[in-house]
Amino acid sequence: MDAKSAARERFETSREGLIGLSHRIHAHPELGFEEEKSSAWLCEALADAGFSVDKGICDLPTAFRARAGSGPLHIGICAEYDSLPGIGHACGHNIIAASAVGAAIAAAKVADDVGLTISVIGTPAEEVGNAGGKILLLERGGFKGIHASMMVHPAPFDMLRSKIIAASMFEVHYTGKESHASAFPELGVNAADALTIAQTALGLLRQHIRATDRFHGIVTNGGAAPNVVPAHTSAKYIVRSETLAQLAELRPKVYKCFEAGALATGSKLSITGGDKPYAEMLHDGDMASFYRANSEALGRPFPNLGEWETRPTGSTDMGNVSLAMPSIHPMIGINSLPAVNHQPEFTAHCVSPDADKAMIDGALAMAWTCIDLATAPAIRSRLMAQP
Ligand SMILES: [Zn+2]
Ligand SMILES: [Zn+2]
Repeated sequence: MDAKSAARERFETSREGLIGLSHRIHAHPELGFEEEKSSAWLCEALADAGFSVDKGICDLPTAFRARAGSGPLHIGICAEYDSLPGIGHACGHNIIAASAVGAAIAAAKVADDVGLTISVIGTPAEEVGNAGGKILLLERGGFKGIHASMMVHPAPFDMLRSKIIAASMFEVHYTGKESHASAFPELGVNAADALTIAQTALGLLRQHIRATDRFHGIVTNGGAAPNVVPAHTSAKYIVRSETLAQLAELRPKVYKCFEAGALATGSKLSITGGDKPYAEMLHDGDMASFYRANSEALGRPFPNLGEWETRPTGSTDMGNVSLAMPSIHPMIGINSLPAVNHQPEFTAHCVSPDADKAMIDGALAMAWTCIDLATAPAIRSRLMAQP
């Protein structure tokens, strides 16, 4: 039996368990850095399959690394398993997690025959927007020794190389002074007005940015009572640009809008976060070509998506991984339209039969891609030449 058939045969014996794992994570959504149950279940599944598992690596309690095989080419498969506030697994990270485990179990079956070491990297908190799990793991040696990295991410439709852009999330806090809003308004300093001015300035700035730039946010504290001049207000914002370099140009312009709010009202401004942005994604050409062929062999072609091929999508800390080593991040379709990521309707789709099929196809396409990378001498040498 060839390596791909052997990997598939091994996957089939775990198939039902992996669907159960995906559904269990979906039924118990946990926010970033709090994914205790999800990470424990993933570690348990990998340990049961014979992986050696290190939990809580790099001072991140819900991160882990699980290894099998002892070949010279070391491939990391990233698992995400955090959810979104209020709407659960609306980004389908349950599918990412189960497909990562499935891919690793399947590839591990033939790892020593083809010269592979396979590690699943459990990467918490992808949705937080700044200093995500992969960024902290990269800084702290969590990816040490790994030559190339991959994951699949659910989406309404399949997309091999989606345009993933850089992003930076930060929090804004204004401090003014309380006063009776009617009897003594002249003694108040209105921190809510500061936010209004900032939002107006941001709206005007939108005329003068690149088509691939974005900024968007929410007010997390708008004041305490209508008859008290708001003295404390806060907001969370995300700034995005095509690349980290362009983001570095845009971010100061956005910050100036918040400074304008402070200047006009006399409030004090403080900005926190934004210090560890998500990078743009560089899709490795060879890895993407193998993934495409494997996906097609599984009956999952990549449709021509027209403008979607070049339109900016979201951002992910997998971008930071892709700048550190050859990587891919294909989007795997769960046939959810009109529901799209970050909608509660998408949450419901993430345990549908189409979602389960995506988990299975994603796992096998990744496992087969690992085998291809290990058995293509020139590509294997290129990957292993990574520092
Ligand atoms: Zn998301
Ligand atoms: Zn996501």
